[in-house]
Amino acid sequence: MPDGDLFASPSKDAVISGRQDADPAKVLHDVFGYSEFRPGQWPVIEAALAGEPVLAIMPTGGGKSLCYQLPALVRDDLSVVVSPLIALMRDQVANLTAAGVPAGTINSSNSPEENRQVFAALHNGELRVLYISPERLLTDDMLGRLRNLKPGRIAIDEAHCVSQWGHDFRPDYLRLSALAEHLPDVPRMALTATADAATQRDIVDKLFSGQDAKVFISGFDRPNIRLSIQPKASVKSQVLAFVRRHKGAAGIVYCRSRKRVEDAAATLQAEGIPALAYHAGMPGHERDANQDRFIAEDGLVMCATIAFGMGVDKPDIRFVCHHDLPGSIESYYQEIGRAGRDGDPAEALLLFGADDIKLRRDLIESSGKSPEQKRIEHMRLNQLLALVETGDCRRQGLLAYFGETRHDPCGNCDRCISPVARVDGTVAAQKFLSAMVRTGQRFGAEHLISILRGEMSERIGKLSHDRLPTFGVGKEHTKAEWRSIARQMMAADILRSDLEGHGGLIPGEHARAVLKGERKVELVRDPKVATTAKLRREASSTSDGAVLSDADQEVYERLRKLRAQMAAKRGVPPYVIFSNRTLREMATARPAGLDAMGGLYGVGARKLEEFGPAFLKALDGN
Ligand code: ADP
Ligand code: ZN
Repeated sequence: MPDGDLFASPSKDAVISGRQDADPAKVLHDVFGYSEFRPGQWPVIEAALAGEPVLAIMPTGGGKSLCYQLPALVRDDLSVVVSPLIALMRDQVANLTAAGVPAGTINSSNSPEENRQVFAALHNGELRVLYISPERLLTDDMLGRLRNLKPGRIAIDEAHCVSQWGHDFRPDYLRLSALAEHLPDVPRMALTATADAATQRDIVDKLFSGQDAKVFISGFDRPNIRLSIQPKASVKSQVLAFVRRHKGAAGIVYCRSRKRVEDAAATLQAEGIPALAYHAGMPGHERDANQDRFIAEDGLVMCATIAFGMGVDKPDIRFVCHHDLPGSIESYYQEIGRAGRDGDPAEALLLFGADDIKLRRDLIESSGKSPEQKRIEHMRLNQLLALVETGDCRRQGLLAYFGETRHDPCGNCDRCISPVARVDGTVAAQKFLSAMVRTGQRFGAEHLISILRGEMSERIGKLSHDRLPTFGVGKEHTKAEWRSIARQMMAADILRSDLEGHGGLIPGEHARAVLKGERKVELVRDPKVATTAKLRREASSTSDGAVLSDADQEVYERLRKLRAQMAAKRGVPPYVIFSNRTLREMATARPAGLDAMGGLYGVGARKLEEFGPAFLKALDGN
């Protein structure tokens, strides 16, 4: 625990109100069914309880919500939570309600009747958590009510939305800076997963008006997400095999274009996998319906562009597959972060090819930005490419990018699990560059590879490229190996594609140094991608990655069915009833009674009372 003191005496407010705080660990256990805080949660909660201005930066799935929910239960007061996303507010309210925490939301999609109920509960002092959109909070009416009600704190979720630097800037959020004037006595907390320094400064400036906010930054690591990055060989089979390996589990397949989204969804559907599509080109209602289904139903695969994901906090997404190279390390991390929020094992697979690299470079070059900006963007792309082509532990590279040092390899990435051979590729790279230079930097990789391998063809004859000194000097590598070498040279910015020309290759930033022998080129040997048939066989029948005995698996499936029925009856997503992990613990521990069941992960007092008996019955086989 950092500078905080776990045993600090109850803060002033608690004494003034004459009430004693509840024990936070007990609330965590009794209400949420969790046995310990996640890393980073306690210091934030402690500062919030002390009424200090807090900025908490936690990775997606780190458990931010608990940081503002728990203080209200400990202190028996109200947390007002500002959120930009209506779907998310509804989900959170459903979750809290199932756990027995009185919660409500005020937003533009409420019916007058809903509003009336929420206001009544609010004024009776019954609500512990109120979710509200920024524009609703900032009305005179609402501010007036809150001045009387004196909430314990206002939590501003997705706080990066106040920053004009960020990609999610919302003018309504900027107006939240007026909260200091309107409700000067209510402590504010800001929470976000976006961490860069400029955004942080902006949040503190705008939301805490220069006040010294306590900033807590949790580690970025998400150790339960297994990381794999593979060059594209046969993308369809690669995606299919990956999705099949997670049969029955919910997952996302990110594709770079609308067309690819539709193709991927169709391919999966044709294989009997329940897949949906989501992209900005679809009619709004269809898109929303697919998102709702993905959240509400068990085990759907969403094929989507990056438009999908913000505000989806489904905790049991088991995999994220990048069908194409993502835009940057930041977006990659944000996108894979949507997997495994529940802390159970999850897997992220990224596929990339030479065409992806070319496309990203071309986008930068044709962006119309200043040369300086282009340089920075090429550099950022190079960092992503270094990660995808590295022979080292992926997690070490990823965390290093975010400024965190990890000393040991992680043991949970493709490089740690099946290390790749590294070879000195300097000579091969020089041969390739020389073939490129001698042909006038006008030809693409395939033509240059033919020259290097000494393959005669009509075109080569016509151009007299068989008379070049480089003709046939690269026979020691197969065509596939040369393609891999060229791709890795593109990733290392030794090669680029020529935008003006016709897709010919030209020297990249580091070509000169390589040709002059001043820079070594280290290559990794691409791991063999299994044949389509083998990939198909590999797709085993385990659902969502957990290993259960046959008997336990049968019980688990029975519990899942019961959960689906109960969820449908209540109109909530299944995970609101119990998480997969909870069901798995039930299936393996087979608690004999309610007491034993209450000790399992995620089983709080209210859920035990409401759902426990039915699940006990199902465990008995009824
Ligand atoms: P985010 O930081 O992305 O908003 P959430 O608040 O949605 O994350 O939490 C992610 C998941 O982790 C939720 O399912 C939540 O119930 C669970 N969680 C939060 N805190 C704990 C804890 N201390 N122990 C176990 N699970 C937790
Ligand atoms: Zn690793």
